[in-house]
Amino acid sequence: MKIVRLKTAVVEGNFDWTFVRIETDEGIRGLGECFFAPGLTSILRSLEPLLIGEDPRDIQRLFRKMQLATSGAGSVAGIVYNAISGIEAALWDVLGQWLDVPIYRLLGGKFRDRIRVYADCHGGQALESLDEVLRSRHASWEASKAAHTAKDYFSQAGDDLPSSPEDYRRRALAKRAEGFTALKFDLDVPGTEGPDPYNRVLSNRAIDHMVSLIGAVYDAVGKDTDIAVDCHWRYNASDVVKVARELELFRLLWLEDPVPPNNTAALKEVNSKVRLPIATGENLFLFEGFQEIIAQHALSIVTPDLQKVGGLSVAQSVAQFADVHTMPVAPHNISSPVGTLASAHFCAAIPNFLALEFHASDVPFWNDLVEGMPKPLINRGFIALPKKPGLGVTLNEEVARRYARRGEPFFE
Ligand code: MG
Repeated sequence: MKIVRLKTAVVEGNFDWTFVRIETDEGIRGLGECFFAPGLTSILRSLEPLLIGEDPRDIQRLFRKMQLATSGAGSVAGIVYNAISGIEAALWDVLGQWLDVPIYRLLGGKFRDRIRVYADCHGGQALESLDEVLRSRHASWEASKAAHTAKDYFSQAGDDLPSSPEDYRRRALAKRAEGFTALKFDLDVPGTEGPDPYNRVLSNRAIDHMVSLIGAVYDAVGKDTDIAVDCHWRYNASDVVKVARELELFRLLWLEDPVPPNNTAALKEVNSKVRLPIATGENLFLFEGFQEIIAQHALSIVTPDLQKVGGLSVAQSVAQFADVHTMPVAPHNISSPVGTLASAHFCAAIPNFLALEFHASDVPFWNDLVEGMPKPLINRGFIALPKKPGLGVTLNEEVARRYARRGEPFFE
């Protein structure tokens, strides 16, 4: 079997869901999804000639071939691995279909038949659609028809209405009613801005507001629901410790990305001073990105993103190393059902799986993007493991085309 083509398409969800399709001379087509990035489909097009004529079943060798070919441009990390991650997943889909077995079989078989999913609740309200540099946009499927002013996600201008404990409480009760047993809320929301958006410093007023938001969630659902919170690597170590200590009484599932994840010492400082599990990983690449922080126990819960970290094999090596260090794995995930189900195969095949993220509650066509499994894909907070060969679903191209990002090729 030989690869004859690589095609891409981008769907405008709440993020750019970027699909890669590997086509073979035997008619088998593999589907993968990449984490968004500036210039991503251009990178994918650059990788295509490396794959043409190759046997798609040689997954590990093709990974190494792409890694070597791009090594001068970014051998240790970076968005080239967003592209490689999607390609690698598509190769697993080809191999699974060729062998007539689901991907989780190829990863060593399953520990579980259904995958626990946690709902990302953002700041208590719907997350706007964001482009590849995290600027808000008005996507075609969004209900609001009001004129949209694009904003930078990280600007924190302080001119938005503060997030309210009541919003957090309502969102928590709604997601709990849908059956989710774990929820995640953001701490870096309107009302928590300091006087300077760049210096990583938190005020007491911001800390009090954060505690009131998470307290509202805990009072509403905290007895029977796990609660995680996310800081998006915004703060300095000593200030985020102040927040975390106040949040200890809510017995959080985890505190995510308190400080930039590539500073092991800062992460370790927070992890050692706080009686809450510290989670990080969505911005780390390859096994090497995790090796030091796991070995030094600078974190407690590992959160790789399967559409970015380098692929399913890389994620397996991270999970095995984390397991040796008794750390659970809770994959980050902002993808369409394509990436979510690839992650689900991985989650089934590792012993130390905790929960998989779902970030698209507000996207009305999320379930409609794939065919081949009963809907809704997430039922009472769990995804049933796909039973069909390979990934287990195909893309509904009619739906995908309806929401395709303008200016991007659509499998052309
Ligand atoms: Mg996060």
